[in-house]
Amino acid sequence: MPGKNLSREEAQQRAGVLAVDGYLVRLDVTSAPDPAAATFRSTTTITFRCSQPGAGTFLDLLAPAVRSVTLNGRELDPATAYDGARVHVDGLAAENVLTVEADCAYSRTGEGLHRFVDPVDGETYLYTHYEPADARRVFANFEQPDLKAPFTFTVTAPAAWDVRSNAAHEAVHTEGGTRTWEFAPTAPISTYLTAVVAGPYHVVNDHYSRELPDGTALEIPLAALCRKSLAPHFDAEEILGVTKLGLDFFHEEFDYPYPFGKYDQAFVPEYNIGAMENPGCVTFKEEFVFRSKVTDAAYEARANVVLHEMAHMWFGDLVTPRWWDDLWLKESFADFMGSYALIGARTRYSSAWVTFANQRKAWAYRQDQFPTTHPITADIRDLEDAKLNFDGITYAKGASVLKQLVAYVGSEAFFEGARRYFKRHAFGNTELGDLLDVLEETSGRDLKSWAAAWLQTAGVNALTPQVTTDAEGRITELAVLQDGEVPRPHRIAVGLYDRDADGALLCTERIELDVTGARTVVAEAVGRRRPDLVLLNDEDLTYCKIRFDADSLETLRTGLGDIRDELARALAWSAVWNLTRDGLMPARDYVALVLRFAGQEGNIGVLQSLHAQSKTAVDLYAAPEWRAEGARKLADGALNELRAAVPGSDHQLAWARFLAQTAGGAEHLGLVRGLLAGSARIDGLEVDQELRWSLWLALAAAGQATDEELAGELAGDNTAGGKRQYTQCLAARPTPEAKAAAWSAVTDSDELPSALVEANSAGFAIPAQRDLTALYAAPYFKLLERVWAERTIEIAMRIVSGFFPIAQTNEQTLAEADAWLDGHPQAAPALRRLVLERRDDLARALRAQACDRV
Ligand SMILES: [Zn+2]
Repeated sequence: MPGKNLSREEAQQRAGVLAVDGYLVRLDVTSAPDPAAATFRSTTTITFRCSQPGAGTFLDLLAPAVRSVTLNGRELDPATAYDGARVHVDGLAAENVLTVEADCAYSRTGEGLHRFVDPVDGETYLYTHYEPADARRVFANFEQPDLKAPFTFTVTAPAAWDVRSNAAHEAVHTEGGTRTWEFAPTAPISTYLTAVVAGPYHVVNDHYSRELPDGTALEIPLAALCRKSLAPHFDAEEILGVTKLGLDFFHEEFDYPYPFGKYDQAFVPEYNIGAMENPGCVTFKEEFVFRSKVTDAAYEARANVVLHEMAHMWFGDLVTPRWWDDLWLKESFADFMGSYALIGARTRYSSAWVTFANQRKAWAYRQDQFPTTHPITADIRDLEDAKLNFDGITYAKGASVLKQLVAYVGSEAFFEGARRYFKRHAFGNTELGDLLDVLEETSGRDLKSWAAAWLQTAGVNALTPQVTTDAEGRITELAVLQDGEVPRPHRIAVGLYDRDADGALLCTERIELDVTGARTVVAEAVGRRRPDLVLLNDEDLTYCKIRFDADSLETLRTGLGDIRDELARALAWSAVWNLTRDGLMPARDYVALVLRFAGQEGNIGVLQSLHAQSKTAVDLYAAPEWRAEGARKLADGALNELRAAVPGSDHQLAWARFLAQTAGGAEHLGLVRGLLAGSARIDGLEVDQELRWSLWLALAAAGQATDEELAGELAGDNTAGGKRQYTQCLAARPTPEAKAAAWSAVTDSDELPSALVEANSAGFAIPAQRDLTALYAAPYFKLLERVWAERTIEIAMRIVSGFFPIAQTNEQTLAEADAWLDGHPQAAPALRRLVLERRDDLARALRAQACDRV
């Protein structure tokens, strides 16, 4: 499709000659409840100026039909003006009014205006999602972040519906069965940030107010929305409570009043991502409305996302990156603020930095070691590049580097820089230099070389302690070795840990210093008795992989769980996982550490990571001949810890889920069936709906769930969530027919929403069923280009990643991946990137297996 993939040069050119004064967008979605209606009417009127009268330009629009195009009263022929992706206009005046009337399509992929029908009550729900460039699926516009303008939306919908947009509504007219909502003009915002949410949503209203420094009152109406059928599970008070704490916190830290009027938070079905920061109308995935018991880690994750999106109201919405190269300018900040504010705003989630060290950084380390990694400030040539850059670098590494920046310049300089940045660039667009300017002003430091090392260079350094001692065991030298292509300046703390009389490992000395270059001597450590454990990057100030000297590693093998400090322990867990991934610690040794110490792990989020990682260790990193034994050990460990866990605790639930994921032998599966049937009980463990599905998945994967049983479970839970779980169970059955059905459901039809594509791939690709799925490796590589060409990028990304034959850990599959890459140099760069990354996962698994085999 010509022009569908907007390039940076085209965007620069367009912004060079145009300035947009405003959009008037009319949408008529009264047809939405009719499943036969594929489209809705969309009319855009744009008022804009052109600095080169007589020139031409184009609007972006992805629509089945364009009805009319009118420029300054002149009718253009849509047949010639519209090429399927762009509306071309020429002969611009200095001041222009352009109206485009189109029929736009309801989406089933979460891109554009998504339509969902609730299986519980048949109600229809709509919401939009655009980032980076899908507003053009809903209305004609200049789809680039630096052509900001006020938007005035008018939406006609069924009369019984609630309709929300970025701004509050000013008037509502009811006529027959329909109702028209007229919204106030927004502040100047980018196209990707506009939003509409429409349907018979359940709404909980609240209010926030505070006195501003000038004595005036700031009033922010709050609302939280979800589907009606989820309302019984909707803990809106908890969400709104975090919201108010966050508004207090950001007003204090940012010193710039919330600029977008009201604040709605809508939890919407079949959402492709966690949440989106539409000003005044944030959208979240509705899985954040918990239908069954979840652990506190899930509540913390949700609160983190609430605060992440709120931080975006300033970082991203008020001040917006000029182009997607600087996506990090908003995402790294919001990601950092999500954790920072959990503590700063005094929510109950005081272990936010433990979670950050444990989970966000794992994401960053993984991404940063792919051959496709990139500097935090990226080179984004076009929209397909942009789409793939919502990754572990832009979010988690960027946030990690901001944490390091705070350690480097101090939090006062950092936040004073943010305050100046908002005031200076309000409602505008920025690039890296604009941020460095304010930070240099407030810190008094030259940040050019810091930025070059941290923001403009890819890759992760490993820091290793080198300890030499004299005959009495006193340190004669402690040095920090830094590897990696580019040594960076790191502000770090070195923790020296010793056992106390009770065997606990406690920090007995903390040394903070700057590490630069390949070798840095820690002078303060000289003369001290050699500690039991040297922990580099204690407190997790910098972004690096931590290694250990041989004696410290031995201390961890016998006593990792004895580290009392929660964050230090999480760092040790993270470090031994990195050793395992890097083929420096045998997978079976890592599994042994988990089996020995996970039962003592107090942090529920860390425990759940240990579960996931030890399962990956067995499935992918263990030598094949040890896999069965490793799997049995995990299942036995899960069962023991489940029986030992405190009744009703989060830990008990986590171990129950882990048992479901690892159950293989008769004893484990017997208990699983007993729990489902009610004939077996674990004191305090409530077998609620989500846990039931986890247990059914174990039975299905073992070939011990009949079609009737699974259908019966779905009949009792005929919901969106139930449908997803049921689909995964069907795909997980260990038969050639089940695998063929899952494969075909995804590849032969484009009817499935992304949630069901994921459910099929998750069930299909169970590693232990590698013999059954082996024959799909060759068809997978044949399929790639067609999938990329025919599907929307959201769906294509899920298919390419989810069906990659990762469980076929052998040289032949690696060769097949290489053959595809060698044979398709001209394939879309974004597709090549995904295949390269999965190929790298596979090569890593082979290296880890070689380490485990010795
Ligand atoms: Zn974000």
